[in-house]
Amino acid sequence: MLPYGRQSITDADVEAVVEALRSDWLTTGPRVTRFEADLAAVAGAPCVAVSNGTAALHTAYAAAGVGPGDEVVTTPMTFVSTASTAVMLGARVRFADVESDTANLDPAAAADLVGPRTRAVTAVDYAGHPAEYDDLRKVTDSVGATLIADAAHAIGSTYRGRPVGTLADLTTFSFFPTKNLTTAEGGAVAAADPELLGRAARFRSLGMVRDRDSLREPDEGGWHQEVHEFGLNYRLPDLLCALGSAQLARLDHFKARRAALVERYNELLADVPGLRLPVRRDWVEPTRHLYPVRILAGRRREVYGRMRAAGIGVQVNYIPAYWHPAFADLGYRRGMCPVAEAFYAEQLSLPLFVDLSESDQDRVVATLRGILGD
Ligand SMILES: *Cc1c(COP(=O)(O)O)cnc(C)c1O
Repeated sequence: MLPYGRQSITDADVEAVVEALRSDWLTTGPRVTRFEADLAAVAGAPCVAVSNGTAALHTAYAAAGVGPGDEVVTTPMTFVSTASTAVMLGARVRFADVESDTANLDPAAAADLVGPRTRAVTAVDYAGHPAEYDDLRKVTDSVGATLIADAAHAIGSTYRGRPVGTLADLTTFSFFPTKNLTTAEGGAVAAADPELLGRAARFRSLGMVRDRDSLREPDEGGWHQEVHEFGLNYRLPDLLCALGSAQLARLDHFKARRAALVERYNELLADVPGLRLPVRRDWVEPTRHLYPVRILAGRRREVYGRMRAAGIGVQVNYIPAYWHPAFADLGYRRGMCPVAEAFYAEQLSLPLFVDLSESDQDRVVATLRGILGD
């Protein structure tokens, strides 16, 4: 089966991991520090590496102080962890609808839902295309909320010339193998504000405080460290950070290759009937994680089945988050975000990854053309 996404691994990646394995540090060593610095250079803000993208969101919400009594406004067109990690901290999630073309959080819909209880607004850069951060910033400023970017899809993307990582107060990344960059499992939180970044760093390491000026009992002894607020062990080991730095060295290539494949899909599919292709705003330069098309005329389920039967691993991204039974059990009802639900009903992700060959891409196009021409 041709996958819809997969990692690109070179000998340099393998050697970097082997070298880490033979070193003194398997975790919490120099390769973590180096990966965080390498990431910061791309994200435009200091970064804290964590164990995965879900942990990154949990950490970002904890750093933003999200807790019981708070509300978090976000998009339903995302992987469940954008919303579930806020619920796990005791917040109520309010789902605002998306723009019909980009499937990103609609700033006007978010503006309708924010109020005095809103602690954070979380946008998702769907498929790698940054959300409308200038408009979202006005929304969070109006109520003093924290702006969070779930950029699991979008490392290396830019918005109005600014890198993803500088557009929100806190930005989260995922380095799962299907994403734009991988560390197997992995993630990161970026924040320009040292206070927010410090809270994220502490949450990632069980809440441990070591720096002498912050200790309540500074004279306890050289061994002493304190927990002031509870955290988790969300650290990313040196082994995986070594892979991350090696991968980051190729991020420009990844971005260019994905852009070329997207351009090729756009051209080859332009005249296929019953299909709508993804859009790109002029002021955005995405690192394209997904190539999401819309299958019109109620044929998505049929096309999904026939593509898979032909050995082409198409995917659907995503069922609206509040359709998950855990949200339904909390009282969330279908119909809440009609634009997102209409998008979901037609959405299909075609294979897109760095090592996708043009001949495999041609086969995807020919198969889809054959099905839709029926
Ligand atoms: C992948 C993903 C996550 C979760 O990342 P993991 O590393 O799989 O935990 C969160 N949000 C979005 C939008 C994602 O695509």
